[in-house]
Amino acid sequence: MTQLFNESRADTAEITGIPLGSITSYNGATPLLASKGENTPQTAQFSTETGEILKPEYSPVAATIERYSLQRASCEILSTKRGKRDRTLSCLRTILSGADGVLVKQSIKTGKCYFKNLMCCGSVWKCPLCNAKISEARAKEIKLVMEAHIKAGGKVALLTFTIPHKRYDDLKFMVKTFQKAFNRMWTSEPAKRLRISIEMDGYARSKETTWSTNNGHHPHYHQIVLYSSDKSEEECMKEMKEVLSPIWSNRCEKVGLGSPSYEHGLDVRNGMNAAAYIAKFEKDRSWGLEKELTKSQSKKSKGDSYSPWDFLREHKKTGSKEMARLFLEYADAFQGSQFVTWSPGLKDKYDIDDSLAKDKELAKTSDEASKTLAQITHKDWKKIEFHHKRANVQILAEKGWTVTKNYIDSLPRPYKKNRKKNPL
Ligand SMILES: [Zn+2]
Repeated sequence: MTQLFNESRADTAEITGIPLGSITSYNGATPLLASKGENTPQTAQFSTETGEILKPEYSPVAATIERYSLQRASCEILSTKRGKRDRTLSCLRTILSGADGVLVKQSIKTGKCYFKNLMCCGSVWKCPLCNAKISEARAKEIKLVMEAHIKAGGKVALLTFTIPHKRYDDLKFMVKTFQKAFNRMWTSEPAKRLRISIEMDGYARSKETTWSTNNGHHPHYHQIVLYSSDKSEEECMKEMKEVLSPIWSNRCEKVGLGSPSYEHGLDVRNGMNAAAYIAKFEKDRSWGLEKELTKSQSKKSKGDSYSPWDFLREHKKTGSKEMARLFLEYADAFQGSQFVTWSPGLKDKYDIDDSLAKDKELAKTSDEASKTLAQITHKDWKKIEFHHKRANVQILAEKGWTVTKNYIDSLPRPYKKNRKKNPL
């Protein structure tokens, strides 16, 4: 059997070696973002003279492979934590008690396969597999609301709130107090008057963080503000900036976060134009405001700036203890906090189903019409799991069950000796 992808070693050679058709190709050129992104699902065609990217490509198959690989990196790091075993270590790995093996389901619409009867952690912050599902669903909700609002004649602005930060600032403290300052700003009297003045209909906001060697953690909020004022967009944006900036600075100072400057503390952009600005992050895909709010973890940062998934990529590649420590610090700070927050009543106004408001519930369900393709026995699943071949099986299943079953049969039995040592 040709060598397939191994979740624990997602290097480029293995990805290109998968006999599933053309999954990804670098066209003989250097990979995009070679320092941090060579294990990423992005590929690029670019000038060998100038290094300019000419045509980045995106492969959903490579993205699936990377997600499994990053989840494994996350589990390796989380398994070093003291205390209670983290749920992510069992996510899409442990068969639910009482279940008769793992079901392989296939979407009737897209042909994509997924596993059922497995434990699901539902963590948008720690689990790249659950994150992908949750963030996709949240992005759809935001898009639906924005589209309905604009269709009804409304306007959209993108607000980004930041704080001053230094190399050794405590992320947990920053995340907690950031929320406090944010709430106090929006409940202040000038902000209340602003809401009336621009006829603010509501908002959706998400939080994210990046990290750099020189400046440490950089938590920030993105907020989409929906409003209906007849005044021009420029006038409304100017008003938002002028009213909110000083209060934001003041409230941050009061909770111990320092004073963000007028220039950098709050960025206000026209929601329509912002999409173009945001597209720079992911040139290969359409990247709307909804994704800016929901796909932050997986962003491949530029230069000396790391997203949380970059910690995992770097740890996987180099075994860096510093990257593992940073990931644990980030996971601890964000665990349990809300991913996307909506203003009260906004989802109702645009008839968005709110039955899956909790990320954990959302990660467990699938509203797609699907058929059961096959059932994997406990014994076979142990083999797949032991050899870290979940991604392979999921992808191969889309090509047909016979080839997949042959592949599973070809996997060696798990070594007892090694199995004891496997912490996952
Ligand atoms: Zn999970």
